[in-house]
Amino acid sequence: MKNYRIAAIPGDGIGKEVIAAGTEVLSCLAQRDGGFEITFDHFDWGSDYYKQHGIMMPADGRSQIENHDAIYFGAVGAPDVPDHVTLWGLRLAICQPFDQYANVRPTRILPGIQGPLRNVKEGDLDWVIVRENSEGEYAGQGGRSHVGLPEEVATEVSIFTRAGVTRIMRFAFELAQSRPRKKLTVVTKSNAQRNGMVMWDEIAAEVAREYPDVEWDKMLVDAMTMRMTLKPQSIDTIVATNLHADILSDLAAALAGSLGIAPTANLNPERKFPSMFEPIHGSAFDITGQGIANPVATFWSAVMMLEHLGEQHAADRLMRAIERVTANPDLHSPDLGGKATTREVTDAVLEAIKGDNS
Ligand code: NAD
Ligand code: MN
Repeated sequence: MKNYRIAAIPGDGIGKEVIAAGTEVLSCLAQRDGGFEITFDHFDWGSDYYKQHGIMMPADGRSQIENHDAIYFGAVGAPDVPDHVTLWGLRLAICQPFDQYANVRPTRILPGIQGPLRNVKEGDLDWVIVRENSEGEYAGQGGRSHVGLPEEVATEVSIFTRAGVTRIMRFAFELAQSRPRKKLTVVTKSNAQRNGMVMWDEIAAEVAREYPDVEWDKMLVDAMTMRMTLKPQSIDTIVATNLHADILSDLAAALAGSLGIAPTANLNPERKFPSMFEPIHGSAFDITGQGIANPVATFWSAVMMLEHLGEQHAADRLMRAIERVTANPDLHSPDLGGKATTREVTDAVLEAIKGDNS
């Protein structure tokens, strides 16, 4: 029997709460399926680790997880540690060296959930956002001079490479091609950003020729926010830069009902390194410790992890369980306007898995 070894990194805040729920659900699912086993190795890396050791993860941290089948990640961020330290010290310290360049973010209105848009219901909003995850605006390039002085100058340099843009574009076209509507929107800001973004547009047109059956169009990122809110039905697959897609995907999550349901996969498509699965949201210290974090995003991320591992049957079973639970407003957590706790939502998903006989 297959035994998957998963590195669980809960991180900070509600990351710990939702990963605890997620590992419980995955273990139950493996038992119910009977065709595979899952072993979790837990890593206590994050802001508490940082306060003790001055680093977010041990120096040999990456080699401790590089042979795992996948990484199941919570969130990082603490009120008393700068965000750029937590982000670069842990999440990006994993994503970048493991070359997880394709960040995939599905968004759908799940059954029973009411998004904020009038007259937009289940089926009207069914998108996948592909975020370039290795370069662009988050390449970490730039610097500051004359810090704190009136003449201070800071630069934040975006890096776009032909190889990097071509591979994410191919990935996005492939993904669009695999979806029923076969539509792709390439998002840039090539009017104001006249170097990297113009190259994006050119490469999009080149790669598009390899996928004649994919219907594609281009959109500036500011106009895209309007289209997402006013004509959600017109969108299918989206590809955008690291920064643009980061912003668009929080908007997408809100339009689908809550950040608390939005999942993501950081993929190394070549499978040379492990891929990482996580909720889009952060550590949410405003609700940490209250037991009300919505675990659905973390469960949906587990669906993506199972698909990546090739366990489609279990992935489908988990997605059915999630949808059965969201369909019941009594099982909505406060971010969805309900009263259910993390424990109650998790128990309901566990019940739905156990009772699913297909
Ligand atoms: P956040 O995602 O943590 O929270 C935004 C809002 O959404 C908060 O009101 C929060 O309570 C709510 N929310 C988020 N997830 C929820 C869930 N599962 N259930 C219910 N409500 C939920 O973003 P923020 O407040 O901007 O950032 C808090 C910290 O998280 C910061 O330190 C930030 O840097 C970090 N962060 C980390 C990641 C990551 O690890 N991938 C992503 C975003 C933010
Ligand atoms: Mn984000």
